[in-house]
Amino acid sequence: MTTENKLAITGGKPVRDSYLPYGRQWLDEDDIQSVVDVLRGDYLTTGPTIDLFEEKVADYVGSHYAVAFSSGTAALHAACFAAGISQGDEVITTPITFAASANCILYMGAKPVFADIDPLTYNIDPDSIEKLITPKTKAIIPVDFTGQPVNHDQIQKIAKAHNLIVIEDAAHALGASYKGETIGSISDMTMFSFHPVKHITTGEGGMITTNNREYYEKLLQFRSHGITRDPKKLSQNHGSWYYEMHFLGFNYRMTDIQASLGISQLQKLNDFIKKRRHLARTYNDKLKAISHIHLPIQDAASTSSWHLYVIDLKLDSLKGNRDDIFNAMQKENIGVNVHYIPVYLHPYYQRLGYQEGLCPNAEKLYKGMITLPLFQSMNEEDADDVIKALKKVVNYYS
Ligand SMILES: *Cc1c(COP(=O)(O)O)cnc(C)c1O
Repeated sequence: MTTENKLAITGGKPVRDSYLPYGRQWLDEDDIQSVVDVLRGDYLTTGPTIDLFEEKVADYVGSHYAVAFSSGTAALHAACFAAGISQGDEVITTPITFAASANCILYMGAKPVFADIDPLTYNIDPDSIEKLITPKTKAIIPVDFTGQPVNHDQIQKIAKAHNLIVIEDAAHALGASYKGETIGSISDMTMFSFHPVKHITTGEGGMITTNNREYYEKLLQFRSHGITRDPKKLSQNHGSWYYEMHFLGFNYRMTDIQASLGISQLQKLNDFIKKRRHLARTYNDKLKAISHIHLPIQDAASTSSWHLYVIDLKLDSLKGNRDDIFNAMQKENIGVNVHYIPVYLHPYYQRLGYQEGLCPNAEKLYKGMITLPLFQSMNEEDADDVIKALKKVVNYYS
């Protein structure tokens, strides 16, 4: 963690004495006890607790099936496999996301194609998707950025018209909804992450939810080396010990230790979201007074679960750039962050041939965006500190 600053860039003492991180998990004694219980039991990995966690997440999001993985990234990889994405295919995704949303396409030997964002919601722009479709397009990986669901009506329409599979990256959007429907059963497959900064945590972990039985079975098999013991699937059978490997899978299993934490955390999810929504409202209300920033805009069809609170600086009206404001906020002991560098601007993607200028809206947003701290154990005073610091810093640079 960053050490505390004694001096602010804006002069004098920082707004906060202690450093406020941008995100932090919330664990209580119940969570700890549930993990201890598993440690005292018979199964450490892939026992009954995994099944129960999967069942509870499927219940929560309203999907028929759920498959737990060792990480959200592993879950995305598995979903790409289940979707049959392979070499020569193109898959459309957004550049304003964590690299994993596009990396999973590369894992399959396929080509990530980046569609630009809607400058208001920062989510992938359906019109931009449509323009990029070619005979090679196989799937779309939309990302519910900051917890705000994408424009599902449009994306479903495009997917149906062009026979594309939709793998939704909902790492930010557990508990969010679109037109009243909980995220997790709208797309062909939906990915959730349980990394500690996300809504609920298992340390590391991820999940795919789906209503499709065929995908479900492939996901399970991919998670464990491509091996099956299902008698209906075996080419021969030498007895109850016998199993076969049918394709090249991985060891992407979640442990029962992690799943027990996930079950315990899931019980608190609605409270966590309530708190995040409350904090976001506080930001919305109190930051309105700062004319140098754009506040996040919510689409009327989407109800966000508020993973991130991202503001966009009106750089034309400021003397400093994003990094000046970012550094000054850090010196006020406010743990601001940047989500995200457009994926294709990473050196690795540049080496693959992606050029700057590909998605102008995304690049423009990137230049001005700052993520403010937002997590369930933050209180009103913490939020007020953030607001006070932002006013101070913006004032200093205007
Ligand atoms: C966190 C995250 C992931 C990856 O999840 P891990 O569990 O960290 O592997 C993928 N996409 C987005 C948008 C994320 O925020």
